[in-house]
Amino acid sequence: MAPATEGLTDLQKEIFTKISQNEACELKALLAQNKLKVDFVDENGMSPLQHACYKGNKEIVQMLLDQGADVNACQHEHAYTALHFAALSGNAELCHLLMSHGARLTATNSVGRTAAQMAAFVGNHNCVATINNFIPKADIDYFIKPQGLQTEPMLPPHLAECFHQFIMQVNVNPVRVCMNLQRLPALLENAAKIQKVLESMRYREMTRGAETNEVMAFKYHYLSCVVAEVLKCQKRQEAMKAEKSGNEESEEKKSDTVELLVRRFLKCSKSDGLPEYQEAFLRECVREFPFRESTIFRQMVATLASTDPPSAVSVVSAAINGQRGFSDNAQTCVTCGEDKATKKCSKCKAVQYCDRECQRLHWFMHKKACARLGPSLANTGKITDVHNKEQITNAVSSRLQNLAVK
Ligand SMILES: [Zn+2]
Ligand SMILES: [Zn+2]
Repeated sequence: MAPATEGLTDLQKEIFTKISQNEACELKALLAQNKLKVDFVDENGMSPLQHACYKGNKEIVQMLLDQGADVNACQHEHAYTALHFAALSGNAELCHLLMSHGARLTATNSVGRTAAQMAAFVGNHNCVATINNFIPKADIDYFIKPQGLQTEPMLPPHLAECFHQFIMQVNVNPVRVCMNLQRLPALLENAAKIQKVLESMRYREMTRGAETNEVMAFKYHYLSCVVAEVLKCQKRQEAMKAEKSGNEESEEKKSDTVELLVRRFLKCSKSDGLPEYQEAFLRECVREFPFRESTIFRQMVATLASTDPPSAVSVVSAAINGQRGFSDNAQTCVTCGEDKATKKCSKCKAVQYCDRECQRLHWFMHKKACARLGPSLANTGKITDVHNKEQITNAVSSRLQNLAVK
């Protein structure tokens, strides 16, 4: 049942025009001058919000949401929601904005596809990962109130915000997870509590009946393992400090702990080899996942046990985030695995980093190789090796990708 266009007023038509031309300021003025509801639709059943999403224009989308646009309203002829259009636009931040405003992740279009599936279909992998890693705030609310016989909540309420941010991180490289923890000192101070909450969330994801989500359960498990590792290092350092009975600043010591762990994760004893400690740690995480019957567990174990397996970090990332775009690989940060790392080592130009911090953290490993890898060597053996590895990784990802889509 296609809605009729003749009902549209000149003002409504003008609003559609401003959106299609990305004229945010003019649109703002229009909306300010005229008090109107923005839930009307064009001849295809598309609302102004849906048009703005299709354009990938976050500023205009925010404006329309502020104006009261219903994020889940759907009169589109093929049942696309605002989130479907945002996912097609390729703007992951826009997808995040819609989801924080309550966009339903499970809504399907007329061919039965969710927004994440449509994003995957057109190769917008950042949108897929952002949607699949989204966690409704309500999932955390449970932990900031005392439950049953508890006298205090598992998660101190003032940590809710940064904890929420922490668990929605898309890049699950252990170095990046540690760096994120370091940037959220309140979480770091409460590492033991955070770890308990993550374990509890892991359990809840596996006991939701039809809504059971193995991928999120594994993600919580994995994050809890990283936090546990940080805790272990903190304890070891405290013990060493007690021995020395020095009275140094304890605050600073805690952030040093994370950096020590990061270096341990990055260290490779053989040049161009896998970082052994990281590899062993990640394999152990997979092995310790308590839900042995789950598909995600069996597939990861099988992949890691195959002859010439891909790196554990690529197996874990693929399990959580599904297949990544082939082109993304060209710009991966060697420290933390982040995509779109645009800064190059100025000396050898053979490695890429997100920023100075990633370069600084990696320098103890890179300094030996840097002199050896001149600009002339940059496109020889090493790159081919990376490509082979990526091909294997992609093969694994395609086996795992079905898991990542709810
Ligand atoms: Zn980085
Ligand atoms: Zn270099």
